Order: sequence, then C-alpha cells, then structure tokens
Amino acid sequence: MKTQIIEENALEEAGEIIRNGGLAAFPTETVYGLGANAFDEEAVKKIFAAKGRPSDNPLIVHIADKNDIARLAHDISDDARRLIEAFMPGPFTIILKKNDIIPKAVSAGLDTVGIRFPSNKTAQSFIRIAGVPVAAPSANLSGKPSPTSAKHVIADMDGRIDAIINGGECSVGVESTIVDASGDVPVLLRPGGVTIDEIREVVPKTRIDSHVLMSVCEGEQPRCPGMKYKHYAPNAEVIVVEGEKEPVQKRIKELLSENCKKTTGVLTMYGSVYDSAVMIDAGASNKEYALRLFKALREFDELGVEVVFAEFCERDGYGLAVKNRLYKSAGYNIIHV
Ligand code: AMP
Ligand code: MG
Repeated sequence: MKTQIIEENALEEAGEIIRNGGLAAFPTETVYGLGANAFDEEAVKKIFAAKGRPSDNPLIVHIADKNDIARLAHDISDDARRLIEAFMPGPFTIILKKNDIIPKAVSAGLDTVGIRFPSNKTAQSFIRIAGVPVAAPSANLSGKPSPTSAKHVIADMDGRIDAIINGGECSVGVESTIVDASGDVPVLLRPGGVTIDEIREVVPKTRIDSHVLMSVCEGEQPRCPGMKYKHYAPNAEVIVVEGEKEPVQKRIKELLSENCKKTTGVLTMYGSVYDSAVMIDAGASNKEYALRLFKALREFDELGVEVVFAEFCERDGYGLAVKNRLYKSAGYNIIHV
C-alpha cells in the first residue's frame, strides 16, 4: 500500500478515504491518531491490523460536535454532563454506556464507549469533512511510544495505511485523560492533558483507578484494557531514577560508569551534567516533560542508545501523566533515591 501525505489544506481527500473505509492518521493536540469510520466495522478492524493491536483493546471515538454524543451513548449522568461541559473540546476522553450504533470492534466487546472531542483545529476539520465519528487509537505500532509528529507516524505506519495528514507537532504530547463516567462515581483511568485537580474542581468525588500507577497482575481484568499491555517502549532499555536533584545525579553518574561499555542516554530534568552519554532535555516542568517524552524516546532509538536513564520527580499536576507513561516505557524498572 502506498501511504499518501496530505497537507492540512487538502482534507477533502482524507475525508473521502474515511468514507470509503480506509485509514488516515491525523494530528490532535495530544498525539497523532489513526482514524477509521467508527460506524464501519471492517474499516475499524483494519486499524488493529495496521498497528498490530490486540483486538480486546478498545478505540476512542472522535467527534467534532457535542451533539453527536447523544447518538453514541445513553444514560449520561449529571456528573458526566458537567465533565463534558468543562473539558470538551480538549485532551479529555469520557467513557459512557454505548449505543448499538457503535460496532463491537470499536469497544472491544465492552458495553461502554470512549468519546473525545479534540481541540486541534485540523482534527476538527478532518472529522467534520469525514462526516462520521472517527474511531482512533494513537498512530504508532502497538507497544511503541505514541507519535507526536507526522514524522513519527511515517516511521511506524508508512505502507500500512492510506494517508497521513501532516499537521506539525502536537501541543500536549501525551494521550488524553480518560474518565469513566458510566457508573455512579467517575473514575480516572488514564492521566493526561487534563489534570486530576482540574477534574475534581468540576466533580470532587472523582476517584483514581488503582491501576493508574501499577502494572496489572496476571489474570486480573483491568477497567481500562490498554492498562495490561506493554506500552510506550522504545528499543532502548529505560530505567527511571526518581527523586531530588542531588541524589538522582549521583546515582546516574554511578549507573553510567557501571554501563560504560554500552551506548547510554540520559533524559534530564535537572541539567545536562553527564559525560559520555547522549543527553536530551526533558524541560523545566512536568508539562514540558509530557510534551517531550515520546519524542525523546524515539530520538534515543535513532541515536542507537541502548540504555536510557530517565530523571523524574513529580513537580506539578502533569507529573501523574508523565509518571504513568514513563513507568510503562521502563517496564516498571524504577530506582527511588
Ligand atoms: P490509545 O489512546 O491509543 O492507547 O487507545 C485508547 C485507549 O482508550 C486505550 O487505552 C483503551 O483501553 C481506552 N479505552 C477506549 N475505550 C474504552 C472503554 N470503553 N473503556 C475503557 N477504556 C477505554
Ligand atoms: Mg496508544
């Protein structure tokens, strides 16, 4: 298959691909999505094939008009309505009871559906022009870091999908915050571009699912199916070194000398103070860290780095989203100092 690159001013072609049952990757404020017509089961199945994604990991349905929610879901509680009002459009996904119009392949057999209204203008135009809700996961190969630029999508998906809309770099850099509002009490399933503090300002009783920071034990059924798979992992081994500046830097210096035969990299929060390692700056806040994380993991791979030591400390409301992705990319290999 030849993958077409479509510029932001030529979205008509992308809309036609979706209507004809094809796959088009598109930019959003969080990460790039890999879209198909959410009402077309055969098209949706192609997403799983192109990514190598397990079929029990559901997709999020993207809309560009809040009025579409009533067609996709039912039993929408007052808390759900408040969350929709407060955070849509934006980097936020709400889980609601699904209507039959959503095929099983989208929800992976669940009776709920994840719905998102991106704030990215290109994403909105694309969805409107497609004329149907667009089911999409992140546009990476399953298990790899999510793509935050068209270049990342090309690296993973060239030849596997019909088109990629080139919309520059994403502004959030990690995936949407997912809140399950299908039950009595809203539950945060995935931290992301909207923080838990912001959510609790709107619905104070919102809980955080215990799996947000833990790996799922074998045989246990996670509430958010994406939780149980290896995620966000570059080719390099990633080790998180978590704590305050001085002990973190001291420990990483020791680790670098222990690993001196390998090509090493450091994802730095506290400053690029290391010799003999590829260093990438994670920025001055966790908001910036979120924006740079996936890009940095791909860059380390491009530079042939074998082991990455990632400095980390929760500094602000985005710390939870960074930590969730970082821990998974490291396979929960974490050193606390
Ligand atoms: P991705 O953003 O590419 O990782 O894929 C979408 C994420 O949304 C996955 O982690 C899914 O597990 C999650 N998701 C989508 N729909 C649902 C749902 N109905 N219930 C729980 N989680 C969902
Ligand atoms: Mg993903």
